Order: sequence, then structure tokens, then C-alpha cells
Amino acid sequence: MYQVIVKNARIPQGDETVLTNILIKDERIAGFVDGIDGIEAEEIIDAEGHLTLPGCIDSHTHFMDPGFTHRENFLTGTSSAAAGGLTTIVDMPCCSVPSVRSIPELENKLEKIKDKAIIDYGFWGGVTGEDVREGWLHNVKEQADYGVIGFKVYMTPSVPTYPRVTDPEMYEAFKAVAETGLPIGIHAENFAICDYFVKKFQKEGRMDGPAWAEARMELAEKVAIQLGISFAEDTGARLHIVHMSTGIGAKLVKEAKLRGLDVTSETCPHYLTLNYEEAMSEYGAFAKIAPPLRTKRDNKELWEGLRDGSVDFIATDHAPYHIEDEKAKKGMNIWTAFPGIPGVETMVPIIVSEGYNKGRISLSKMVEILSTNAAIHYGLYPKKGSLNIGADADLTIIDLDKEWAIDQEKTYSMAKYNPLHGLKLKGKVAKTVVRGKVVFDEKEGITVKEGYGQFVKRQSIQKLDKKIKF
Ligand SMILES: [Zn+2]
Repeated sequence: MYQVIVKNARIPQGDETVLTNILIKDERIAGFVDGIDGIEAEEIIDAEGHLTLPGCIDSHTHFMDPGFTHRENFLTGTSSAAAGGLTTIVDMPCCSVPSVRSIPELENKLEKIKDKAIIDYGFWGGVTGEDVREGWLHNVKEQADYGVIGFKVYMTPSVPTYPRVTDPEMYEAFKAVAETGLPIGIHAENFAICDYFVKKFQKEGRMDGPAWAEARMELAEKVAIQLGISFAEDTGARLHIVHMSTGIGAKLVKEAKLRGLDVTSETCPHYLTLNYEEAMSEYGAFAKIAPPLRTKRDNKELWEGLRDGSVDFIATDHAPYHIEDEKAKKGMNIWTAFPGIPGVETMVPIIVSEGYNKGRISLSKMVEILSTNAAIHYGLYPKKGSLNIGADADLTIIDLDKEWAIDQEKTYSMAKYNPLHGLKLKGKVAKTVVRGKVVFDEKEGITVKEGYGQFVKRQSIQKLDKKIKF
């Protein structure tokens, strides 16, 4: 007797697909069969012949819980993620009160959110300039032992509860994280350049949307990545560039990989689809993010980076803010509005539509960048990110032909704004399955109770193959 059979599932086999039926027992994949006559199961889920991917993963969210729950909380965030076809997210340590940089803070966060999650979730560990100055770096190993998947540092100020690192402090953080064998993710923008040009533009009276992106220029990301690569080379740390926004960044990561360094990167759907001149002119603060949107050339070069392996996977940097108080408050301007946009509900459909359906990436590449690579990089594979027998029965079922448009009002996220509003897509999530249970159905919405999602610890230390294509 099986728990579930997912029938008529079209699963990827390299760049081809096969139609099969997936047997599930104890929340895990138990086998694949051609026919299901005579096989008993408590429940049958019909995938209707749709493409069925290993559960998609967003390894970069800011769900703001606990502390900033007027922006998002773990229920709204994970509901939005489930509707976007995600089966696992990994939440960042910075956007909460307290921020997460020690075992008590990890335990506090888990306690506050565990009864809210719809899908499975892991945690990033934290390390800041304050941890270095106060002699708290022992927290790094302790968080690693607890099961975090990596560590995040900010080169520029972001959340007041999560102080940025100066260059030498970042070097100290790299040394501490290197000892754990886990990746260190850096927010790669040079603080001095951003700070100087923001102030200069303010003095000149620039108040237009694009000014934000022009002040926090490409060069700020370029030199920040170069510094990170130098530190990785010196310390042996596994450097990961989070939310990489520039084509030059992809080229630097590629060079570093070819030199044999442990350097990886992710980019986000908005850096593949939007450019600052159009989006920031039209949406102003609602398209304000850090690092900022770039140019059409960067869009193109980041797709190329995904194809050639210099960009390892996709993540969202989902970071919603409160419209009335933090984006469009009276007297607020492009410099003072908070930087961040939602993303978990649209990541998979954008990559399906703009990537796979438009022929920019192959099927096998799509599986890697939406699921497998993040799972491997963060030590969750093959429990997550695979259709192996024994893996968690996490599935993202996609109707490849369904045409629709992103609507900022129709979202489970608390953020009812989106610079991608109106974008027409082909390909939509039909069902999201987490450990054998449908958590989202396109017709019924969210189908499990809050608290169904489980905390996933890092399983082991794993590394991605450096498969750079020329
Ligand atoms: Zn982020």
C-alpha cells in the first residue's frame, strides 16, 4: 500500500521527458511504474501529463519573521512560494528581530515560524562586522553544527540589526567560515563607491528613479566580486555571489572557476528580465532593489552565464516592504524608500517562460538551475533537488502551455506591488507537492494547514562540479 501515486507525470530525463507514474511511501519517492493497475495507494494525484520537476528551491528569501511581520511573515511568504512552485526555501539571517547569528537566535526563529510554514525551509547562518569586533566568531562553527547551509555577509549597510563588514572584517569572516566547509554568500557592492555616488547624486538634486541604479553602478559590484575572489583565494573559503546583477560579474566568476577556485553565483529573475532605465522610470521606488536593476546587455549576459555555467542557479532575493510606510510614504523619495521586491511566486514561471519556452535554456539546464544545483551547493541533495528513489517526494508540476500575466494584486505575498506586473508568461504552476502532499493546486489554492512545512538541516557538505562550457 502506497501513500500516494502521482499519475501521468512527465519527468525530465536529460533533455527529454518520459511519461510515468511516481510511487510515494513515507513522504519519499518509492519508485516509478508504467501502469498503475493493481497498485494500491491512499491517494492519487493526477499530474495530467504535465512536466513534473524535482521540487524547485529558492535559496535566498527574506520572509521578515520574526520582527518585520508588517511586511511578510512565514505563512504569507511560504504560501506565495508554494503558489510559485517552490517546495523548499532557505531564509536569510538578516531581516528579522533579532537577526540570526547564534544558536539561541536560530532556535528563537525556528520557534516563531515553525507553525506557519506551508513548504519546507532551511536557514542561512549569519556573521556581521559586530561579530568580528566583539569576538563572537565562535558562533560560526556553532551555527554550522546546527545545520545552517551557509553564511551571509553584507559589504553595504542593509538592515540595522545586521551590521555590514568592512573589508578586513570580511576577511576575518572568510577565515572563520572556511573552517566550516560551508559557502559564504556575499552581498557584493563596494560600500565606499555606493556611498560616495549616492551622496553626490543627492547633492546634484537627482530624484529620478534611474539615479539609484546609476549611483550604485556596475563598477561597485565588479570590484566587490573581485575582492571576494581574492579573499576566497587567500582563505580557501567557498565564495558564493548572491543576487549577482551584472554580466561582468558572470565573467569574473567564470574566470575564477577556470582557475580552480571555489566560486559560485546565483542571479534573480528580475536581473534577467528588467532593465533599470525602463523599470525605474516607470515604477520608481517599486523597482528599487540592491544591487539595482542593470541594462539589457546584462540581461543577455546573465542568460549566457546560466548557459555556460558561470551562474550556478536562480534565487529570488524576495524582500517585500510595506507600501504606505516603506515604499511610498509622503515625503519619501528614491533615496529614502526601502530597497526590495517580492519574487517567490514568479521565479519558476519566469524561468519556464522566458528561459525554457523561449529556447534560451535546455530542459536539463532548467532542472539544474531551479532545483538540483542549489540542493547540491547547500548540502541538501539528494533529499531535496532530485527525483531519486528515497528522495523527499517534492514535485513542481508545470503546465507549459498556459498563458497568463503577472498581477501584483493576485499574490499570497503581503507585497501587492511588483515591477514585473503585467509581464505576459507562457507556463504556470499547476500543482506543488511537498513530501507527497499537494500544498498548492492552481484551482484550489493552498491545500495544507500552516505548519505543514518542516525545517530542513544541511545533510552534508557537497560541492557543485565546475562545468564551464566554452
Ligand atoms: Zn537578499
